[in-house]
Amino acid sequence: MFKVNKEKCLGCGVCMANCPGATELGEDGKAKVIDSEKLEKCGGESICPYGAIEKEESK
Ligand code: SF4
Repeated sequence: MFKVNKEKCLGCGVCMANCPGATELGEDGKAKVIDSEKLEKCGGESICPYGAIEKEESK
């Protein structure tokens, strides 16, 4: 599972360009993860050049 660290996210949209369908821009202007599995296949945290995407242990 991945999540977006809203403190670090700039809302730049690079993650959406790097991995369409894994994240989307939320109403707060920050990215949110909509498909963790896809995100993982795209390279996980690395799709965000600003380090705002973080891995989260699933419960
Ligand atoms: Fe940009 Fe990273 Fe936020 Fe995506 S998660 S919008 S790449 S700062």
